[in-house]
Amino acid sequence: EQLANQIAAGEVVERPSSVVKELVENAVDAGSTTIDVEVEEGGLTLIRVKDNGSGIDPEDIETAFQRHATSKLLSSKDLFRIASLGFRGEALPSIAAVARVECVTSPEESGLGRRLVMEGGTVKALEDVNTPQGTVMTVKDLFYNTPARLKYMKSIQTELGHISDYINRLALAHPGIAFTLSHNGNTLLRTQGTGDRLQVIAAVYGTGVAKSMLAVSGDHPDYELMGYISKPELTRSNRNSITVIVNGRYIRSFVLNQAIMQAYHTLLPINRFPVAVLEIGMHPGLVDVNVHPSKMEVRFSKEPELRTFIEQVLKEKLGAMVHIPG
Ligand code: ADP
Ligand code: MG
Repeated sequence: EQLANQIAAGEVVERPSSVVKELVENAVDAGSTTIDVEVEEGGLTLIRVKDNGSGIDPEDIETAFQRHATSKLLSSKDLFRIASLGFRGEALPSIAAVARVECVTSPEESGLGRRLVMEGGTVKALEDVNTPQGTVMTVKDLFYNTPARLKYMKSIQTELGHISDYINRLALAHPGIAFTLSHNGNTLLRTQGTGDRLQVIAAVYGTGVAKSMLAVSGDHPDYELMGYISKPELTRSNRNSITVIVNGRYIRSFVLNQAIMQAYHTLLPINRFPVAVLEIGMHPGLVDVNVHPSKMEVRFSKEPELRTFIEQVLKEKLGAMVHIPG
């Protein structure tokens, strides 16, 4: 069992940002409206995710750390589960196999809850506690018992970069959730959770960028597009500032990124890229989430159609801007 967990851990827990991803996605799935992420030394010494979500029933806390224990629906059509689908209850046991983990949680307003400490996959402490409704997961000394894995870690700055990038995008995908991210005690991101995506764009990219965003929207029998793209004069030297959200989940799609850049580059034939945050709604049957859930990649059943639609909406909007001289 412990070996199976360590093997699974190799897939689930590639680096600190994978731990952050799993913990934060659980917090989102639990219906949290505030999620605080605290990391130290690029996440290698400490990762703490605190949420005000549904919490875990004291009776279920140990089970949550067993393999394939999931309380979630697992239907491939259930796009809302896209992020956790790949692991089917493997995240917590995998993390617990390669780190010291503490879980403090309560499902009740009364604050009656439980604290569980796991080390090397075994229970070190289990006790009743009083704690606000929600969950605090603390992961310390990642890869302390798998030194070979530890050796592959890049610099603290690189690991932090992955974490920060991920939290930024998740915050962009969930403007209704108030996120904070801090590293070694310094706050790197704070969003308000008001539901206003432009506010999140300001928090992530700065108010200057937020001010120069164009609102875009479009309708199609199968799709609905809403979001923001930066004005042509505001360009970036890399393409990492494009965030695509499908049915409420942040995803990665090479094809959609291509569509966005294609629209942009037909009008601006330069080697520069926009800041863009686009949310696309569609019937869950039109998107296949099983391609590579751990990497957040998806496949669309009517890909050329979707691509054309996005290109058209963006070209129309950007085209109107490009005619203005200067
Ligand atoms: P999965 O997310 O695929 O269900 P995990 O290993 O990530 O598997 O989590 C196992 C279970 O622990 C979840 O199904 C959920 O019931 C519970 N859980 C984990 N984190 C939280 C949290 N922050 N709030 C509430 N429940 C949680
Ligand atoms: Mg999970």
